[in-house]
Parts: sequence; structure tokens; C-alpha cells
Amino acid sequence: MARRKKIYEGKAKILYEGPEPGTIVQYFKDDATAFNAEKKAVIEGKGVLNNRLSEFFMTGLGQIGVPNHFIKRLNMREQLVRSVEIVPLEIIVRNYAAGTMSKRLGIDEGTQLPRPIVEYCYKDDSLGDPLVTEEHIAAFGWASQQDMDDILSLALRVNDFLSGVMMAVGIRLVDFKIEVGRVFDGDFQRLIVADEISPDSCRLWDIETGEKLDKDVFRRDLGDLKDAYTEVARRLGVMPKNAQPITKPTLIN
Ligand code: 5GP
Repeated sequence: MARRKKIYEGKAKILYEGPEPGTIVQYFKDDATAFNAEKKAVIEGKGVLNNRLSEFFMTGLGQIGVPNHFIKRLNMREQLVRSVEIVPLEIIVRNYAAGTMSKRLGIDEGTQLPRPIVEYCYKDDSLGDPLVTEEHIAAFGWASQQDMDDILSLALRVNDFLSGVMMAVGIRLVDFKIEVGRVFDGDFQRLIVADEISPDSCRLWDIETGEKLDKDVFRRDLGDLKDAYTEVARRLGVMPKNAQPITKPTLIN
């Protein structure tokens, strides 16, 4: 069998050329990085969990009409997705203050925001993904005004969906990051949600206890990241077949 062509290797995923034009195979690695890859570790099983969780969220979004790149899961670590031209922005939606917003504005972590706040960062690791305004985005041609309207609408629809799904299993969606990409149909282009949606890119807090169930567990040395992600997957009913119970075997359905 011919070797697959690697298109791109990032911190948490590898992209390979897909079997048909316009498709890509997205492979989820076990690597965890934080602080622009200054902190690194291999967390066995993280890739399997994120593959399942991203499938779960993207499928749910598709069912409510939010266009996204997911086509199908191929195996434990890989999914087939639509090839897109990534818009070079990280789109962050915040419901509660945390992380860089708390630092930047001096707001206590966990403070409920008056409404969801959407922020944009320019996707460039060498610059540490700096926060940018719509002025920068328009002036440098990263996205048009129509794109920005579409991006805002996608981001808020993802927020509504994810907040509800998480709330139903006792988890507060504090904030999250998405990426969007362009797909072309003849002369027309439209934007769809791409990349991944997983606890790597969200802040998820247990509603009762405030326990963190996301990548902050790794960033801030709060415990076992795999246990946290497994708990999210368990609550959502998204456990990989053959997955070994981690800490609470009696709780697994
Ligand atoms: P903050 O700006 O507070 O660091 O992050 C806000 C939200 O966006 C958090 O849920 C965080 O996980 C996510 N986020 C921000 N930048 C990145 C990134 O480069 N990669 C990933 N996976 N998530 C990010």
C-alpha cells in the first residue's frame, strides 16, 4: 500500500491527504502542549478521546445545521474531514472570565460575563497567537466583512449548542476556541467549522464542584488530564469501545 502523504503536522494533530480530492485524514496525537509548546507531555489515550469527542460535537453541530468539516470517523485516532482553506484566526467565545481574559482585564476567574464575548487571535505560533481587532482582520485581508458576519454567527451557534450539551451533563462551558475554513462550490465560497472541538480547546468546569475537566489540568498541573477527558467522555456517553476504565470503574455504563 502506498504511503500516505503528510500535509501538515501540528502540536496535537497530523493531517494526511485523504482518499478523495477535497478530503483530509485528521490524526489525533497523544501529545499535549501548553504555553506555545514550552510545556510538553505525551498523555497516552488523549488522541483517542479527542477523536471521539470532536466527532461527537461536530456530528451534533451538523444535526442542527451548523456546517463543519467532519465526514466520518475512520478508526480510533483518525477521522475523515473536508479539506478547507483555514482562516488564520482563532475564534474564542467566552461565557465566564478565565485565562488570558482574566489576566488582561483583571476579572476574577469564574465571573459570569454579561453576554458571550467573542475574541479573535491571529493564528501564528511564532507570535504567540496575538489578540487582534476586526480592524486588523479587515486591513490585512484575513477575512472580509461578510466572512466576519458568518464567523460571528457560527461562533455563537456553536456556543449555544455546546453550552446546552455540557449543561445537560453538569458541566459549565466557560470558554472555547474554534477555527473556521473556506470551502468552494464553483464560484461560491462559504465558511465551515474546522479543526477540532475537544477539551483541548474548551474550558469545562464541573457545575457542582468547579473541578476543571479540560486542558488547564495539564497547563496548571491540577491532576491527570486523561482522567479529566475520560470523565467528559463518560458523561456525554462517548466512551471509546474497549476503553479501559480509568479511575471510577463502577461509573462507566
Ligand atoms: P485563553 O485565551 O484564556 O488562553 O483561552 C481561551 C480558550 O481558547 C480556552 O478554552 C483555550 O483552551 C482556547 N485556546 C486558546 N488558544 C488556543 C490554542 O492555541 N489551542 C487550543 N487548543 N486552544 C486554545
